[in-house]
Amino acid sequence: MKIVMVKKQLLCGEPCDKCAQAEKMLRERGVWERIDEVVWAIEGEPESAGMLLGAQYGVNLAPFFVVTQEDGTEKVYRSALRFFKESFSDVSTSQSKNKQNKPRSARLDRDLPALDEKYSTRHPQEIIEWGLKWFGADCAIAFSGAEDVILIDMAVNTGLSFSVFCLDTGRLHPETYQYLETVRKHYGIPIRLMSPKADDLEDLVREKGLYSFLEDGHKQCCGIRKIEPLRRALGDCRAWISGQRRDQSPATRSDLHVIHKDEAFKGVGEGDLVKLNPLTHWTSQQVWDYIRDHEVPYNPLHERGFRSIGCEPCTRATLPGEHERAGRWWWEESTKRECGLHTKG
Ligand code: SF4
Repeated sequence: MKIVMVKKQLLCGEPCDKCAQAEKMLRERGVWERIDEVVWAIEGEPESAGMLLGAQYGVNLAPFFVVTQEDGTEKVYRSALRFFKESFSDVSTSQSKNKQNKPRSARLDRDLPALDEKYSTRHPQEIIEWGLKWFGADCAIAFSGAEDVILIDMAVNTGLSFSVFCLDTGRLHPETYQYLETVRKHYGIPIRLMSPKADDLEDLVREKGLYSFLEDGHKQCCGIRKIEPLRRALGDCRAWISGQRRDQSPATRSDLHVIHKDEAFKGVGEGDLVKLNPLTHWTSQQVWDYIRDHEVPYNPLHERGFRSIGCEPCTRATLPGEHERAGRWWWEESTKRECGLHTKG
C-alpha cells in the first residue's frame, strides 16, 4: 500500500490549519511514519504537484489522501478521520481508547463556572477540544442539518472520538435529508438519527392532524418530535455540544454560556449533563467565513434565503433586514420561538 498525503501551502508559506491539524492527529495516533509521501498544493501555483493531483482526482480541498493498493486500485479520502479509520484499523481502537481522559464529574460540577469563564474568550475549536478530551465519545454533537455543521468540522480536526446525533422529526426539508447524507459521507462519520416515538406521534396526528401547531402552538408537536427524542439521545451522554449563538435571538439567547450544567436534561444513568455552546460569541458572519474558508459542505436551503433551518412547515426564508429567527414559527410571538431543546445556560 502506498499513501500520499496532499497538503496545502498558503501564500505566506505556512501549511493550512486543517492540514496541520490532520498531521497532528496522525502523529498522535502513531501512524505518521506510515505516510509514504507528502505532496504540496501551493496556493497560487496551479502547476504545483499537489494542485495537479487535486485536478486529477477532482478534489479542491486539502488535506486529502490517495491510497494505492498493490493491485493498483486507488482510493481518495477527503476526510483525515475516515482515512485514519479505514487505513489503520489495526491501531485505531486501542489508540483512540488511550486518548480518552476519564470523566471526572464531581470535580467538573464544582469547576463549571470557572471553566465557563476561562473558555468564554477561546476559539470554538479549543472549547470543542476541551469537551472531547474530557468526555470522549460520551460527548455528542447535536447536528441540526444547518450551519452548525462547523461543530463537526472542528471536532474532526481534533482527531478525538465523538458522536453525532440529529433529531429526525419526520418533517425536515428533502434538502436537509440529502444534506445529512452529504455530511455523513464527507466526514466518514455515523450520524445517529433520533425518530419520535411512533405511538405518541400516531396519537397526536389522529387527534389533531398534521398541522396542529398552526392552531395551538408548536409546543406539543415539538415535544413529541424533538424533545422526547432529544431526551433519549442525551440519556447516553455525559456532555453535549450545540451550535447555539447569542446573536441568533436577542430575546431568548442573550445570556447563553459557553460551558454550563444542563438543568433541563439528564445524562447517562440520570446523571448530570454538561452542555457546551462553543459558538456562543460568534456571529453569523464568522460562521459563514469559517464555512467558506474551510470548504465545509452546507445545506443548499441557505442559498434560497433560509437562515435558520428547522422543520419544513415551520420554517420560511427571511427577507434582507429580517432577523434570522424571524423565519421560525413566524405566526407566534418572538419570545416564544424556541422549541424547548435549549434552556438558558
Ligand atoms: S418545528 Fe413544527 S413540525 Fe417540527 S416538531 Fe416543531 S411544531 Fe412540529
